[in-house]
Amino acid sequence: METSAEILGKRLLLVGGGHAHVLVLEAFARNPEPGLTITLVTKDGLTPYSGMLPGHLAGTYTRDEIHIDLKRLVRAAGAELILDEAVGFDRAARRVRLKGGEELAYDILSVDIGITPDLSGIAGAEEHALAVKPIGSLLEKWDRLVDSALAPDGPRRFAIVGGGVAGICLAFAVRAFFAARVTDPITVSLIGASEAPSINAGMRRRIARALKRRGIAVHAEDVAVRIDRSGVTLASGRHVPADAVLVSTHAAPPSVLATTDWAKDDSGFLAVRPTLQILNDETAFAVGDCATMVAHPRPKAGVFAVRQGPVLARNLRRAVRGEALEAYIPQRDHLLLIATGDGRAIGGRGRFLAFEGRLAWRLKDFIDRRFMRRFEF
Ligand SMILES: Cc1cc2nc3c(=O)[nH]c(=O)nc-3n(C[C@H](O)[C@H](O)[C@H](O)COP(=O)(O)OP(=O)(O)OC[C@H]3O[C@@H](n4cnc5c(N)ncnc54)[C@H](O)[C@@H]3O)c2cc1C
Repeated sequence: METSAEILGKRLLLVGGGHAHVLVLEAFARNPEPGLTITLVTKDGLTPYSGMLPGHLAGTYTRDEIHIDLKRLVRAAGAELILDEAVGFDRAARRVRLKGGEELAYDILSVDIGITPDLSGIAGAEEHALAVKPIGSLLEKWDRLVDSALAPDGPRRFAIVGGGVAGICLAFAVRAFFAARVTDPITVSLIGASEAPSINAGMRRRIARALKRRGIAVHAEDVAVRIDRSGVTLASGRHVPADAVLVSTHAAPPSVLATTDWAKDDSGFLAVRPTLQILNDETAFAVGDCATMVAHPRPKAGVFAVRQGPVLARNLRRAVRGEALEAYIPQRDHLLLIATGDGRAIGGRGRFLAFEGRLAWRLKDFIDRRFMRRFEF
């Protein structure tokens, strides 16, 4: 075990202001590690909390309410914030290269940089669709969509491609937002609504009913193959007319990872041990969507990144102190709450529990607001 004199001057470098890293910063703000130098490198000074993102798009939460202020959090943790993008990782030299030209050396590194959209299977998606992942760049694109949709001749027919939890949340949010603000009739279509394994049968039935009640057309068991100005063409040959298309399908690893010799899974995500260290590098940790826990893989969702946060914080502290690390086995299921944009939500857990109503929404709102209060320093 290292003494505090040996910790003095050790450098912990966090790359990416994702869901797990905000919890690491919170942990070090509440319980500082004297002598340790902490630096966060991330692209943006504000990080959106995914649990409240659909609520913001639906018009329920303000932008301030759904963002964590990294500048404030970093200050509270006694750390340094560098707003830049990591463009190269040198494992042997323990250095990270930034887009701005700077190179940062570290003793312990942690990577939480999310994902990048994978539009490769859908012809025309790059030109004609709005990719909702990564969430960091979603709001800028959303603002442009809102501006055009609020114009008299703007889009009235919206399609969401991707039937995972995010796609379903988006369909409800898009419907709620535009139906309340556009006087002309609007249509919303959801394509591929049967992909989310975390949604049990009871929730699925409730979601199907809620989508129907709001007039959201669902094209389940079908996938988008082409997007153009007229809408979305499905594998079945069917055409879904749309003026604006949002894509929330599977995502790919950030391209910067392709250049590293860190261990990866078959899809190119960083392969990590139960301690959250990368398989072939004891000094580097990876969490959130950019990583795969090879012994216990879980879906790429904010909730799993959030759960990794406190474990990561403890293990980074232990790694700095030279102590043995904790092994982490993530829970299989979690409470899932999907807001329907009308002051109600549909919830469930595991294989059987499913419920819906105003109380479910109040529970979700309570949980999400309590989470955000953790970062009010
Ligand atoms: C509309 C929508 C709704 C969703 N709703 C839910 C939900 O209700 N529940 C849920 O569990 N999940 C939800 N998700 C999924 C969730 O958003 C992601 O799983 C979650 O954001 C992953 O967190 P992360 O920490 O891995 O990365 P992110 O939250 O994406 O954070 C990555 C961070 O790294 C930074 N970064 C990226 N590249 C670099 C680089 N090269 N150098 C430096 N910094 C970099 C980014 O700026 C960002 O700050 C939703 C997604 C969408 C699109």
